[in-house]
Amino acid sequence: MIPIRILIVEDEKQIARFLELELQHEGYSVDIEYDGRGGLRAVEQNEPDLVLLDIMLPGINGMEVCRRIRQFSEAPIIMLTAKDETTDKVMGLDLGANDYVTKPFVIEELLARIRAVLRKKDSLPKLTKNLVIGDLIMDISMHHVIKGNEMIDLTKREYDLLEYLIRNKGIVLSREQILENVWGFDYMADTNVVDVYIRYLRSKIDEPHETKLIHTIRGVGYIMKEEKSEV
Ligand code: CA
Repeated sequence: MIPIRILIVEDEKQIARFLELELQHEGYSVDIEYDGRGGLRAVEQNEPDLVLLDIMLPGINGMEVCRRIRQFSEAPIIMLTAKDETTDKVMGLDLGANDYVTKPFVIEELLARIRAVLRKKDSLPKLTKNLVIGDLIMDISMHHVIKGNEMIDLTKREYDLLEYLIRNKGIVLSREQILENVWGFDYMADTNVVDVYIRYLRSKIDEPHETKLIHTIRGVGYIMKEEKSEV
């Protein structure tokens, strides 16, 4: 497994060293830069998975570094702010930082925030990417669904339902879960509507084909996977 790479931009050498040791202990690969300019260069050249960015830096300060990073990189940034610099925190988030930790910090808290930011990064939908299952391709940017070589015509609701199922492929989803995520929390409806739309979707993407993608889990809900149907 390739280690997750974290860039520390911090001029206080003791803090930087302490962070380096703690992060390495957690299995991260660590680089350190001691000023803003070096930090910017390192983000550009090495594309780290996450940046720990101190605000008070010699030369270009952390705020400005954050702003400039966001002009070319989506790398998650956690700002290290001094105690009670509330305006700095708000500004940092405005400039595109993902989170902040106040110095002096407890290392466990920082580690937890790093994990949370990395998790979020992983779970973000890649909006421009195609979603694929078997020979079905969902082109999110073009709003197209293709099965085999055929373009499938879906209504808005069918499309949303299919997208939700594919994004959660391999996971059993209850009717309630599907209703909440596709129709919304406020939608006052019987979960029967889910069955109805699953039926519509099946008739369009599964019925003409031997390999089924939507499977019923009796008494639970539905799962999307590429497999011959057990039902
Ligand atoms: Ca500093």
